[in-house]
Amino acid sequence: MLKRFHKEIDYCTYCPKLCRFSCPVGNASSNETFTPWGRQTLLHLIGQGAVGWDRATANTVYKCTTCMLCREFCDHEIEVPPVMHAARNEAVRQKIQPQEVVEFHHFFREQQNPFGDDLAARLRSTLPASLFNADAQVVYFPGCSLIYNYPQTIKNTFKVLEAMDVNYVACYDAETPCCGIPLYDTGYLDDFKKNAEVLGKKLGRAKVIITGCPSCAWALKARLPEVGVQLTERIYHLTEFLAPLVEEGKLPVRRPFARRVIYHDPCYLGRYLGVFEQPRKLLNEVCREPLIEFSWKEKHSYCCGGGGAIPTTNPVMTREIARERLHEVNDGEKKTLVTACPTCMRSFQKADERVDVMDLVDVLARCL
Ligand code: SF4
Ligand code: SF4
Repeated sequence: MLKRFHKEIDYCTYCPKLCRFSCPVGNASSNETFTPWGRQTLLHLIGQGAVGWDRATANTVYKCTTCMLCREFCDHEIEVPPVMHAARNEAVRQKIQPQEVVEFHHFFREQQNPFGDDLAARLRSTLPASLFNADAQVVYFPGCSLIYNYPQTIKNTFKVLEAMDVNYVACYDAETPCCGIPLYDTGYLDDFKKNAEVLGKKLGRAKVIITGCPSCAWALKARLPEVGVQLTERIYHLTEFLAPLVEEGKLPVRRPFARRVIYHDPCYLGRYLGVFEQPRKLLNEVCREPLIEFSWKEKHSYCCGGGGAIPTTNPVMTREIARERLHEVNDGEKKTLVTACPTCMRSFQKADERVDVMDLVDVLARCL
């Protein structure tokens, strides 16, 4: 099993756990099996036939947020998440995935999204009809999480674009609302491929795609090509799209943001897409006070706990990981936690309802 990953599995198995301290799942669970070393060693033993590959052991490969933080502390730059994704797909193929994952899959299939609602209808009630245009060349893809959890952030995105005189961006109609990453993360690669093929037809003509969700950006850019669906190469997270326009002085800042801000780099925006500078540029443009940084920031940013389907398989762990991240926010002076990802927003809000957390585009909209 997983022969193509023998290098990754062997390196971790014989490693003195050099990245152990960084793994949010290992830290939150205090369980050595749920560390990069532990999970890879288990796969090594399964490969040797010393341990069985069954529902109990398959459960272990779902204990990774796919945050990629361990790679940053690995001398060999080993990437653990691709191994976990492949093992999850194997678990699904052999029908030994966790029960929560089976239930999630049934739920997803009903409405083609993880929230079980008609998200296209929700989106239509969020934005005016004039913002939808199936033939547009520059398309905003909101993604299911923003539509379901943060419709105001979508409204604010168009408010900011309008204030900058950017009137050529149309909104995707969300008839297939999800980028498919929840299917990929849970191991349903065949379903992910089907979803990707529909997206390929719907978004195939767009020359530029913008999204406010880092996971969607990564899925459209890197995961769809894995299953043979190639969209435009010009796929941007909203912060990447806005930063150069703001540098040109196009954002009319009428009321600078007065609260102290601490910025959280989302794993998929930072470590996966390499976007560190642009969100900071945008915040520095509108914040009256200098930005506060986490001690674990940029490529070493700590995970919110919301990735890798952990909220589906182990919501308590998501909460624990998010709380770990929030210690620095709740320490000392009062601050607003700003991020640029609906999954991070959700994880932090669920972990501590008192925390003042905002999406970056909501901050920009407030300053107009
Ligand atoms: S990812 Fe690198 S540092 Fe971490 S256990 Fe594997 S080989 Fe060791
Ligand atoms: S990707 Fe993140 S959660 Fe997964 S093993 Fe590495 S540090 Fe742990």
